[in-house]
Amino acid sequence: QCVTVCPTGALTAVGYMKETWDALFDPSKKVVVQVAPAIRAAIGEEFGMPDGTAVTGKLVAALHQLGFDAVFDTTFAADLTIMEEGKEIIERIQKNENLPILTSCCPGWINFLEFHFPQLKYMPSTSKSPHQMMGTVVKTYYAEKIGVKPEDMVVISVMPCIAKKYEAAQPNLETNGIRDVDYVITTRELAKMFKEAGIDLKDMPDEEFDNPLGESTGAGVIFGSSGGVLEAALRTVYEVVTGNKLENIDFAAVRGLAGVKEAFIDLNGRIIRVAATSGLGNARKILEKVEDGSIKYDVIEIMACPGGCVNGGGQPFCHDRQEKIEARMRAIYEIDHTTKVRKSHENASVQKLYDEFFGEPGSEKAHQLLHTDYWFDDSKA
Ligand code: SF4
Repeated sequence: QCVTVCPTGALTAVGYMKETWDALFDPSKKVVVQVAPAIRAAIGEEFGMPDGTAVTGKLVAALHQLGFDAVFDTTFAADLTIMEEGKEIIERIQKNENLPILTSCCPGWINFLEFHFPQLKYMPSTSKSPHQMMGTVVKTYYAEKIGVKPEDMVVISVMPCIAKKYEAAQPNLETNGIRDVDYVITTRELAKMFKEAGIDLKDMPDEEFDNPLGESTGAGVIFGSSGGVLEAALRTVYEVVTGNKLENIDFAAVRGLAGVKEAFIDLNGRIIRVAATSGLGNARKILEKVEDGSIKYDVIEIMACPGGCVNGGGQPFCHDRQEKIEARMRAIYEIDHTTKVRKSHENASVQKLYDEFFGEPGSEKAHQLLHTDYWFDDSKA
């Protein structure tokens, strides 16, 4: 087994390629894979493609060829995250309590909060991260739909991130005693598996994700870039609160590689102040200001890796080369621009999931299955 050290949090992580191969060769298991938004903008580099080549369709085809029974898009679950997190944002702003709400989909940053700012643990959204939500939905809703017992399923997450391995192993991220996500492999590890199987991504045709958990929006895709989670949330929160259609859904002020990016949004007369930051040095500075009251925000997105998941520790090596990170970011925003549906609340498959299973965002069932108290240990506070 390969052991890797995470550049974002000095986390030591174990590779799960062998376990993934074993699952693929086990006929008694239904093996489901999901891929995070940032993978499609970077894995082509491992096969000699130019930086910033988006390879979504080829990636899906290659995963089918590797033998997965279903290939789902974590971007679908990013849209689901926005429905749950958006509900929390609206409630906290309306009640004016526990602000700022902090995004919770980056385990590198949540781990940092746990150790350095445990007194602020009431601030993050309680929504699970997208790939954990997907694991839960696969082993409940999808398992019921296809008539397979959750214990006979294996969920593999392909992530740009080494911290996600640590996250998936947390004891509270399971449902009825069954892990939400069984194994996490990184972009580099998946590329290695393709090569071991003789698959060259360049030669693959384009294929579609499987359904019912493969449909996604532009909002879900931009989770891969710093500022994307915040922008996706704003697209939904604005329309839900005001009842108006957003004229311009591109929140350019929160995009890019700057350490801290800010915007002000008018929600029916209540002007909210939001920020996106990446890199743990920037996170520390912003949290210190929030704590001493020298700055007031309503919503803050924090990602541990500078630039967000496009620059994650599990991505093809990039040695902080700014052009490479910017090329991956451009690919992400180009996918968003060319996707027909660009707001999470307009994802028809997510709407169907609520109709058939969860009821509505923030319902009791949604809280039970899609939210968490992370892995905070009160004794550290
Ligand atoms: Fe992982 Fe993305 Fe957070 Fe980096 S920014 S630690 S890749 S979730």
